[in-house]
Amino acid sequence: MTSIKISIGYFFIFCLAAFLIWYFISRSVRRREERELGLPRIVSIPRYGYQEVGTGIYGGVKWVLQLPNPGPFDSHPLLPSPSPLEIAKRLKVTGPFCPKCDTELEERKKLFGYTWTCVKCRFCIRSKIPVHKLREKAYLYFKSDIREHLRKQMKKEV
Ligand SMILES: [Zn+2]
Repeated sequence: MTSIKISIGYFFIFCLAAFLIWYFISRSVRRREERELGLPRIVSIPRYGYQEVGTGIYGGVKWVLQLPNPGPFDSHPLLPSPSPLEIAKRLKVTGPFCPKCDTELEERKKLFGYTWTCVKCRFCIRSKIPVHKLREKAYLYFKSDIREHLRKQMKKEV
């Protein structure tokens, strides 16, 4: 009888220790993510808003690419036109969107990584990194695509 009591006692201690370890690990992960998100960023909003210039797939999900609308004085013949790199730097990547039905995906934190699910068609994809990290990677990926596209376009015009 006493041995059962002791083993039940050990079982509870084990459960409590496992819960405390899980709690402190998940809390430190959450705090690290909050620190990364909380960094002050300089955000400049273009005066004439954004226009959609295309979409692309990166990391298994869809992203919408936007560039600032040109202002009325941006293409003056006396002013030098901006280089493809300067234009590509203004790229704004929004999303992620469902690659099947274009609905914006919902991010959920799991114990190991994240899942993004579509509320419309139940599309679901797993990721090891949070969405803001993947958006930064998508930005770098599409920025080089946009730059290359603009370079080719400018060569054709000359
Ligand atoms: Zn969908």
